[in-house]
Amino acid sequence: MSADNWTNCSKCGSSSFREDYEIGIWSGEFHASYRGRCEDCGYTFTFKHDAPVENDAERLRAEALAKLTPADRKALGLDGND
Ligand SMILES: [Zn+2]
Repeated sequence: MSADNWTNCSKCGSSSFREDYEIGIWSGEFHASYRGRCEDCGYTFTFKHDAPVENDAERLRAEALAKLTPADRKALGLDGND
């Protein structure tokens, strides 16, 4: 999701503060970025944050495997070298 928007500058109060921002999950990461700039006084503010997204399928699989008894593991052919 991305958008731009005009709002009031927090520094000079004019309504010429342009905001551009983008937020969402792609390429396995959460991304948020924000850039604002006042056309009148030149005040700028930027913020950017990227974070890995937890892979639920992989975690659930690991939890399920951790609960198996040795007999279960042998029955499933998981015994040994993995
Ligand atoms: Zn301003």
